[in-house]
Amino acid sequence: MFEKILIANRGEIALRIQRACRELGVKTVVVHSEADRDAMYVHLADESVCIGPPAARDSYLNMPALISAAEVTDAEAIHPGYGFLAENADFADRVEKSGFVFIGPSPASIRLMGDKVSAKHAMIEAGVPVVPGSAGALPDDPQEVLRIGREVGYPVIIKASGGGGGRGMRVVYTEAALLNAVTMTRAEAGAAFNNPEVYMEKFLENPRHIEIQVLADGGRNSIWLGERDCSMQRRHQKVIEEAPAPGIPRRLIERIGERCAEACRKIGYRSAGTFEFLFENDEFYFIEMNTRIQVEHTVTEMITGVDLVQQQIRIAAGEKFLLRQRDIQIRGHAVECRINAEDPFKFTPSPGRITNWHVPGGPGVRMDSHVFTDYVVPPNYDSMIAKLITYGDTREQAIARMEIALSEMVVEGIRTNIPLHRELMQDAHFREGGTSIHFLEHKLAQRP
Ligand code: ADP
Repeated sequence: MFEKILIANRGEIALRIQRACRELGVKTVVVHSEADRDAMYVHLADESVCIGPPAARDSYLNMPALISAAEVTDAEAIHPGYGFLAENADFADRVEKSGFVFIGPSPASIRLMGDKVSAKHAMIEAGVPVVPGSAGALPDDPQEVLRIGREVGYPVIIKASGGGGGRGMRVVYTEAALLNAVTMTRAEAGAAFNNPEVYMEKFLENPRHIEIQVLADGGRNSIWLGERDCSMQRRHQKVIEEAPAPGIPRRLIERIGERCAEACRKIGYRSAGTFEFLFENDEFYFIEMNTRIQVEHTVTEMITGVDLVQQQIRIAAGEKFLLRQRDIQIRGHAVECRINAEDPFKFTPSPGRITNWHVPGGPGVRMDSHVFTDYVVPPNYDSMIAKLITYGDTREQAIARMEIALSEMVVEGIRTNIPLHRELMQDAHFREGGTSIHFLEHKLAQRP
């Protein structure tokens, strides 16, 4: 096992990784920007290093600063968390070339999956079903693009090969709007991701977002750890996640889970990863693979009892990966609400000082958060300040516990989306289970 790990992230995931390290008896180095110097987890770490000013590009995205921090502290490995540099193959490369272990997949795997066109191609080869669409990137010839559009059938969605975080996508309902949409998405993708390549997919009208968690050792051993339903989204961003996915026949889940584990073996995937699918009319369609720990990994931990972050660290340290598929037993149900510092219905960010912070507790309640009373939410980063997770023997119990937990929670000084979560827990369609990825936006549009 490593002696010391550097955590190249901030907020709740920096604390989550730190907790995993502590349990493993590994020392931690936490890096922080000037905006995060007073965060509690920074003081809890064995060592901390300031890596630059608040702007992420000068700190959490600053590769030389991160690598120097690992050098001066004698850390052996770097955990990237999620967001920032977690899926940046060049960073993983530089970490390895500087003599550190990158806690994640190989740079080649990150690169393969980071380009959605090559990822889809790899999945087709591995026998994983994908969304029908253009075979690869769209060509320059407009006539050819129109022909592909007719072949795929409207509506279609134009997506950036290098896209992520719900950005770089455009839905097109008619042929008349196609070429303009392609031009605009290309321009945006070029500016945002430095890669103007776009591709076309059939736009599925009412799918659910279902994803499969995997763990793999880079060789022959790879397993899948059940599924998550992340259909509750706004602007392609997840708001609530749960596991297992309600109402999907187990044999369908098992079939796709096995395919994912097999795909890991085929591409030599190492570490934790997630295969994301759209699910409609009992069919799964691959959309992308995330080559990192995800925000919503917690619900999988609750129903499998496997600590995914510790597994990532163990695999990176070269320990023999001993978990087998038969060890993965799904028990109970878990729900996660992402608590954001924002107006609950207008969604404008609400950074600032939290004057009172009280977290819920009781059976089946887990709170992953770096926040405390008097903590100042900086305006520079993502608005998520906490993840509230509840677990129950049944989905009903997990939801009931979530309602209670949300009602106990006190956050003063800033606005949060807790009122939205409380409404959703009461919503008849959510309670029934199986709502589509459009449900939340439709519900919000109907609000007076
Ligand atoms: P990102 O990497 O930006 O998260 P994804 O490819 O994972 O992009 O897509 C994000 C979300 O966009 C999905 O969860 C879904 O809501 C929507 N989406 C993506 N592709 C399609 C599609 N072909 N049909 C319908 N919705 C889609």
